Amino acid sequence: MVEYFRPTSIKEAVSLLHSKENIKLIAGGTEINLKYRDLEYLVDLKNLELNYIEEGAGIRIGATTTIGEIEDSEILRNGAYRALHQSASTFTSSVKHLATIGGNVAESVASSDLSPPLIALDAKAVLTGAYGGRVVPVHKLFMGLRKTILDKEIIVEFIIPEYRNTSSSFQKVGRTEDDLGMTTLAMRLTIKDDKIEDVGIGVGLASPNPLKAEKTERYIINKEINEEVIEEAGDILIQETKPRTSIRASKEYRKRLEKVLLRRALMNCLEDLR
Ligand SMILES: Cc1cc2nc3c(=O)[nH]c(=O)nc-3n(C[C@H](O)[C@H](O)[C@H](O)COP(=O)(O)OP(=O)(O)OC[C@H]3O[C@@H](n4cnc5c(N)ncnc54)[C@H](O)[C@@H]3O)c2cc1C
Repeated sequence: MVEYFRPTSIKEAVSLLHSKENIKLIAGGTEINLKYRDLEYLVDLKNLELNYIEEGAGIRIGATTTIGEIEDSEILRNGAYRALHQSASTFTSSVKHLATIGGNVAESVASSDLSPPLIALDAKAVLTGAYGGRVVPVHKLFMGLRKTILDKEIIVEFIIPEYRNTSSSFQKVGRTEDDLGMTTLAMRLTIKDDKIEDVGIGVGLASPNPLKAEKTERYIINKEINEEVIEEAGDILIQETKPRTSIRASKEYRKRLEKVLLRRALMNCLEDLR
């Protein structure tokens, strides 16, 4: 039987995490209840008041904010942050009101829908552990399938910078509307004088973990958008990804999708910026 703790402060949660072996954090429980059946102890994060979406200089999203709350947030509906809203809208409806943004990222799987937009938006995760806190770019949390840099640490919140004249877009293709994606891609785009002034690209299902497409970003910056640039950017993108073949799609098909989704995201951002 699993012993269940419900701490009311982050300090208490961290201390519990260090007090036992075979102990794990639980937020929405949509993953942990399926995948880790031999755990002895669970530390519930739901009483830590980490459930918020706040606007200041940028946006702060508490780690236990649910995907449903992200979808419903007026703050995240438009402009630079809308890829988060779009991503939450595609999340499987049966679990979106339990699943949290922190759990979605901390699970460290390629199919995490919230990770590509967080990566594209240059979001940072605020971590707290027994030896203090640190702030880490989201794409640097991942170390392989279900492996992160977290060292008995809690993701407390995500911080997203403020952007001007910027749009973002999340694109997902799944076998059905309510399935995990075959490929996902998020883009953040700033245009100035007909050139791309800034861009961020996060890709899902393209490697063991959600990926920041840094080579493609570097190629696109300062370019004027035309057919040749879009085609070349797609070719660079598929060189830096390593999708795998699974029951959902072959790696070859996923590479074709990556190019298609890059184009769709770009067009969706441009449409929004006009
Ligand atoms: C039927 C079904 C459909 C699904 N559909 C989708 C989908 O469409 N898109 C998608 O992306 N995913 C989907 N998932 C996967 C899953 O729901 C998500 O990954 C979910 O967001 C996990 O969040 P959670 O709060 O439930 O995490 P939990 O199950 O509570 O925890 C997951 C992991 O994260 C750790 N953790 C949780 N919170 C923190 C924190 N704050 N700091 C550090 N570690 C933490 C836990 O210890 C655990 O290892 C689906 C799952 C199911 C069962």
